[in-house]
Amino acid sequence: MSTLAFREHRNILNAMNTLLERFLSYVRVDTTSDATSKTVPSTAKQFNLLKQLQQELTDLGAADVTLTETGYVLATVPASAGLEAAPTVCFLAHVDTSPAYSGTDVTPIVHENYQGQVLILPKDTTQILDPNDPMQAELKTAIGKDLITSSGDTLLGADNKAGVAIIMTMVETLLNDGSIPHGKLRVCFTPDEEIGRGVDHVSLEEIGADVAYTADGGPLGDLNWETFSADGATIIVEGVSTHPGTAQKYGMVNAIQVASRLISALPVEWLSPETTDVYQGFVHPYIMQGNSAKMEIKFILRDHDNDKLAAQGTLLEKLCDAFQAAHPTAKISVRITPQYRNMGYWLRDQKKIVDLMKQATINAGVEPCIKPVRGGTDGSRLTEKGLPTPNIFTGGHNYHGPQEWITRQDMEKSLDTLIALATLWGQETSIN
Ligand SMILES: [Zn+2]
Repeated sequence: MSTLAFREHRNILNAMNTLLERFLSYVRVDTTSDATSKTVPSTAKQFNLLKQLQQELTDLGAADVTLTETGYVLATVPASAGLEAAPTVCFLAHVDTSPAYSGTDVTPIVHENYQGQVLILPKDTTQILDPNDPMQAELKTAIGKDLITSSGDTLLGADNKAGVAIIMTMVETLLNDGSIPHGKLRVCFTPDEEIGRGVDHVSLEEIGADVAYTADGGPLGDLNWETFSADGATIIVEGVSTHPGTAQKYGMVNAIQVASRLISALPVEWLSPETTDVYQGFVHPYIMQGNSAKMEIKFILRDHDNDKLAAQGTLLEKLCDAFQAAHPTAKISVRITPQYRNMGYWLRDQKKIVDLMKQATINAGVEPCIKPVRGGTDGSRLTEKGLPTPNIFTGGHNYHGPQEWITRQDMEKSLDTLIALATLWGQETSIN
């Protein structure tokens, strides 16, 4: 179906307005997650939005609408008549926002028909959006569109409430307009993605799909089917603690000194986040704490290639061995913990899943831009568990901070892409 045909359908439904209205209403609900919390979901306030979404899906007439105790909203859009044999496709988005910046009392501002002017956000005038700043050049793509920002004192929450609003509007469009053919669709709104627990408490049986897509990507046209593979590492240095005044010469081993030199031995020039990009991985120490008796250093290890990731672990092990040999009376240990794996290892053999995503983007009138993610998504974990789940753009920029922005028109293109994708999958009988 052509983009124009979609537009006609949506004009009937006035979905363009409801998409923006939905987005503006969702971002006002405080849903910040909390990595230090042990509850599920990590913050009870996420239920405020989850319940709203449950109600909305029910009101729209979706089937099987469920809100689980662990904070997942699930629903079904039944297949069009005759397309029951098509694979079931799930669309996912997360309701929580990043704890990196305040998500309380978000007051979105719509700058209609933005003309490229410098924007000073009213509640924190140090927050300035300037398309002439080379770091913010992407703002030029918003010229002529309806630009949405926060008021400067909070993040906006386009990550990922744009995805939630887009998926909800897709559901509305497909349920109201029987002329758009599609197979059975599932919808899943998740909590706690920003703290890495997004799919911890939902099973593949509950999701109930053959293939899935997260609508949790970035700028217009960006598609992701490769992510990092990720491990955590913890090094513990136990020194030999003696009274500094009475210590026999060379008897003391100061854990702070050993840990500092161990960190200094890492090749920061080519293996750290600040010196790498695209497909280059890194070893990133992010916590170092303790005292002269015992130090603990925590790392994240990241690479798109599992062998290179393993080599990062080996590097830390070899460093620890060398420091252990130099300080035989100290005790130096390293523990590597697997986190998630690059979804590309599974998706590179499942061409149709990626190809239809690209084709749907083209059908929506957008040029696809395939980018490897320098991080993970909920899809990384789902794909590893057995549900292939690449990621689709929502149109958002500058996530996790007060200068986050998105445009109405780019969200609409994401909506067009999801509808086109549902239509393309409706013509298929298997995912391979
Ligand atoms: Zn996100």
